Amino acid sequence: MSEFVSKNLAVNEKGHLTIAGLDTVDLAKEYGTPLYVMDEDLIREHCRSFRESMEKYYDGAGLVCYASKAFSCKAMYRIAKEEGIGIDVVSAGELYTATCVDFPMDKVCYHGNNKTEFELRMAIEHKVGRIIVDNIYELELLNKLAAEVGVKARIMYRIKPGVDAHTHDFVKTGQIDSKFGFALETGEAFDAIKKALSLENIEFVGVHCHIGSQIFDIAPFVEAANVMMGLIKQVKTELNHEITELNLGGGFGIKYTETDTPVPYADYMDKVSETVKALCKERGLKLPFILIEPGRSIVAPAGITLYTVGGIKEIPNIRTYVSVDGGLGDNPRYALYKSEYDFVVANKADKAKDSVVTVAGRCCESGDLLGEGVKLQTAEVGDTLAVLATGAYNYSMSSNYNRVPKPPVLMISKGEVKVAVKRETLEDIVRNDM
Ligand SMILES: *Cc1c(COP(=O)(O)O)cnc(C)c1O
Repeated sequence: MSEFVSKNLAVNEKGHLTIAGLDTVDLAKEYGTPLYVMDEDLIREHCRSFRESMEKYYDGAGLVCYASKAFSCKAMYRIAKEEGIGIDVVSAGELYTATCVDFPMDKVCYHGNNKTEFELRMAIEHKVGRIIVDNIYELELLNKLAAEVGVKARIMYRIKPGVDAHTHDFVKTGQIDSKFGFALETGEAFDAIKKALSLENIEFVGVHCHIGSQIFDIAPFVEAANVMMGLIKQVKTELNHEITELNLGGGFGIKYTETDTPVPYADYMDKVSETVKALCKERGLKLPFILIEPGRSIVAPAGITLYTVGGIKEIPNIRTYVSVDGGLGDNPRYALYKSEYDFVVANKADKAKDSVVTVAGRCCESGDLLGEGVKLQTAEVGDTLAVLATGAYNYSMSSNYNRVPKPPVLMISKGEVKVAVKRETLEDIVRNDM
C-alpha cells in the first residue's frame, strides 16, 4: 500500500500518509486544514534534473525557465533563483513577486496574449531578459514604450507551429484557432519577423512555441522543434538574418493517477537536442540557444492538499458525497477540466480503498467537486483527506469565492517545516473593502 503517484509519499508505522517523511495527520492537526504541503527538496530535485539534462544533451547552451503560473510565491522564486534556473511570468503580479526576492531579471521571460501597457512598461523598466510578443499591436506598442524608456526591448515571438498535442496523440492542423501567437502556415509569423527586424527599439532574438500541457509523448515536441527550425531556416534564407534563440515551451506530463505514464524528462531533452543539432548541420545553421519552460512537472508531484472530512451523505443507489472543508476555492481544476486526482484518507492510508465516492467541496455550487468515482478508504467525519499531486495550478488558481480565506502553503525541507504562505484571515478578506 505504499505505491503512490509521487515518490515522496509513504505510509508510516501508525498507518498515516507521510510526505517527505512527515506525518500528514500531524501536519493537519498543527497547521489546520485545508492545507497545501509542498516538498521543497523534490522541487529542487526537479529543477536540477531539468538543468542537468540541458547540460548533458545540449552542452548547457540553454536556459530552463520555470513557468511560474503553476505555483508562484516568494519562496518558489527563491528556490528557482538558488537552483540557477530562470522563470516565466505572465503578469505584473508575478513579476512584482519575483522582484521582491531580487530575481535576476535577465533570466525572466514575460508572456501573455494581452499584456497591458503598464505591464509592458514594467517589463522593460526592469530589463527582463525576454518579452514573448504575441501580436503586432503589442510589437508596435512595445517599440513605442521602449523609445520612451530609452531602451531596446529584447523580444521573442510566440508562434503557433501547427502542432496540436493531445495527451496521447497529436495532429498537425487546427492550431490556427488559438488566441496565442502568430500563425506559421499563413505567413503571418514570417511577415511579423520582417517587421520586428525593421524596428529601431526592438531587439528580435528568437521564436517561441508552447504546444500544450500534460503531454506524455516525445513526438509532438520533436515535431514542434522541426517546424520551428524550418522557420529559422526560412528567415535566414529569405531575410539573411540568423535567429539565435529557440524557446520550446513546457507541457511535460506528470503522474496524477496510476494510468498516467510520464516520459523521463531526459529522454525528451535527448531527442529534441538530437533533432535540433541534426537540422542545424543539414541546413547550415548555427545552434540556437534553447529555452524550455516546465511548470507543472517541477511542482505538481511535490505538493498535496489536506482537508478535514465533514458531512457524509449517502444517497442510496446513486452516490455517496464526502464533503471536505475546501473545494473549488483552493482547487478549481475538477470544476474547470474534470481533472483526475488520487485521494487517500491520510489517517487510514494503510487500509484498502473499499469505497467509491464523490468528494464535494464546501462552496455553494453543485459543481464544486474535487472528484467523482473516487476510490477511497471508508471515510468518517473528522478524517484527514489528502489529495495528491496538487503542487501545480492549485494554490496559483485559488480564489476567495464565498469569502473563504485561502489556505496556507507549507514547505518541507530536510524534515523541517516552513510556512511559505500564511493562512488568510477574516481580516484579509475585508482588507480592500471600503
Ligand atoms: C503554461 C505554460 C507553460 C508551462 O506549462 P506546463 O504544462 O505547466 O509545463 C510553459 N510555457 C508557456 C508559454 C505557458 O503558457
